[in-house]
Amino acid sequence: MRHKKEPHRQCIGCRKVQPKKELLRLVLLPAGKIVFDPQQTKDGRGMYLCPDQRCFSLAYKNSRWKKYLLENKDLQDFFHGIHETMSSSIEYYFALGIKMKYLEYTNDDPGTLQREDVIVINSGVSKEQKNRMYAAVQEKGTEIVTIPGNCMNDAPCVTVKNRFPMISRFTRDLRIFERLSSKGLVL
Ligand SMILES: [Zn+2]
Repeated sequence: MRHKKEPHRQCIGCRKVQPKKELLRLVLLPAGKIVFDPQQTKDGRGMYLCPDQRCFSLAYKNSRWKKYLLENKDLQDFFHGIHETMSSSIEYYFALGIKMKYLEYTNDDPGTLQREDVIVINSGVSKEQKNRMYAAVQEKGTEIVTIPGNCMNDAPCVTVKNRFPMISRFTRDLRIFERLSSKGLVL
């Protein structure tokens, strides 16, 4: 085989098997506490969940995991805590990208795009504007993610250049955050 197979894991909520990097990893610490492991590197028994509130609820109902998740008392707070962690990470990458000039704020003209760039759209922009963005990007096949505007200084659109050294990590976090924020693609 030419490519090494991408590692997959099963979500403890919906039971779907998905690429590991698209899931949230939670770790059961020896003390019985569950913590979020954004880097997916912490020692301990790992559990994977889709970045989706529904999967948290499903996992909570599953008797096998219920006792662990109960340690976190309020599942909503836990979910929102993860959301906060991811949003700080995104904000950090935005700040870094701007500073290093790998991020460009744009309106609805993505300018000279390359396929490996990533377009980030403010979830608050009009559907019409969103559609214009999709149309502009379609030809190149550039990836688009939609996230809440407050994480992107309220800009309608941002182009992340593929030269940004952290692009793969950043894209991963953006994808997860898009799902966490329940702002899926419009088309
Ligand atoms: Zn799931």
